[in-house]
Amino acid sequence: MSEMPISKEKAQFHIPELQHRNFRDDQFWKDIPGWASVTREEFGSHLWQLKNSITKVDQVEKVLGKLATKELMADIRHGQKITPMNIRITPYIFALIDWQNYIDDPLRKQFLPLGSQFLPDHPYYRDDSLSEDTDSPVALLTHRYNDKVLFLPTTLCPVYCSYCTRSRIVGGGTETKPKDTYGASQKRWEDVFAYIRKNSNIEDVVISGGDAYMLTPAQVKFIGESLLQIPHIRRIRYATKGIAIFPIKIISDDAWFKALIDVQKMGRSYGKQVVIHTHFSCENEITKWSQLAMDRLWSEGLLVRNQAVLQDGVNNDVEKMVLLTRKVAYMNIQPYYVYQHDMVPGCEHFRTTLAEAVELEKAVRGTTAGFNTPTFVCDLPGGGGKRHVASYEYYDKENGISVWKAPNVKPGETFMYFDPIHKLSPEAQARWNNEGDRDSMIAEAKKKVNL
Ligand code: SF4
Repeated sequence: MSEMPISKEKAQFHIPELQHRNFRDDQFWKDIPGWASVTREEFGSHLWQLKNSITKVDQVEKVLGKLATKELMADIRHGQKITPMNIRITPYIFALIDWQNYIDDPLRKQFLPLGSQFLPDHPYYRDDSLSEDTDSPVALLTHRYNDKVLFLPTTLCPVYCSYCTRSRIVGGGTETKPKDTYGASQKRWEDVFAYIRKNSNIEDVVISGGDAYMLTPAQVKFIGESLLQIPHIRRIRYATKGIAIFPIKIISDDAWFKALIDVQKMGRSYGKQVVIHTHFSCENEITKWSQLAMDRLWSEGLLVRNQAVLQDGVNNDVEKMVLLTRKVAYMNIQPYYVYQHDMVPGCEHFRTTLAEAVELEKAVRGTTAGFNTPTFVCDLPGGGGKRHVASYEYYDKENGISVWKAPNVKPGETFMYFDPIHKLSPEAQARWNNEGDRDSMIAEAKKKVNL
């Protein structure tokens, strides 16, 4: 029996046929004046990447040379006075930015904020929007879900993302935000392991941060092996944005790669899962280097899942989201989550409405196999955990107020997520500007759920 032809009329987007199979392999870094003579071998070395990572505004100016216009540099300097995140960008990502079109470039937006793009924080933003510190029984550990914990062995990363949900601790203090950033230190982890050993309901440990890329090979092994030896632990996940922003480390840092694979093999021998959760947010991050890194991980049987963060002007577009989904899946990465942006400081320009997330989810679903389709979730402010974006109890779209419950995480509690005010109608914006109106809108929304 012949298959039904796919209806072209119904397509809500257009992606050139098989575009997700194209992986750029050009010497793109040579467009950066300061790196015009860098060879492929140099650029492909993790040590060169680390040595040449951009951590200061002056370095941006130096490597960009003639591309560093006065307006661009003034806007970047302005951004540094507002942002809660310091600069740290790998040459890999820096060179993938289209500097001729830096205003709209999705990579520049994520890693090098311009002062001109910031908006005032939402009145209900919080430094620790997800209440990770509140749900922390011992330092460096969050225990919210019954069988799962989040372990933060370090708060350093190979890049610092402008949209970081843990901007309260990650990446060192800035002009606007002092913080208690810490590096990896085995001594500080003892209480974490003791807590996990004592609580036999815990089966799953996320090793995040910060970023597991910043652990030494010995630390990767120590953490992995210590956890796998605890009888009730069944699954561990190393969370790293590394594959997306520094795939060259997977390809060329043999010691780090071997440590990871050793832990994975130990997991297999114990009948336990060791996987990586990574963090591609848009197609522009993906090149042949990403594919080579994934080929190496896949050849050793390591499963990688992707978690993207929904960001305005980066990936809140059906074509871009479908392309990202297909492309990561093509590299054998399982698209797992797309997160509604958290209500943290310095991020209002990135946030989308919940309605937008729901529409995107609907548009992406059905474009590929279900197991390769990400679930769009809202991580509830106040620590209700992740909920499907359409599973709210009540949503006042006009005023951007959604009310949620999380019966298996915090029974009896209600949670609220607020859309960015600048995306609402002028009338709704006016209501938000009036404290009395604001209180009654919120009280009204809560009443709808608790009636
Ligand atoms: S890699 Fe993750 S933890 Fe680090 S700055 Fe980016 S979002 Fe934050």
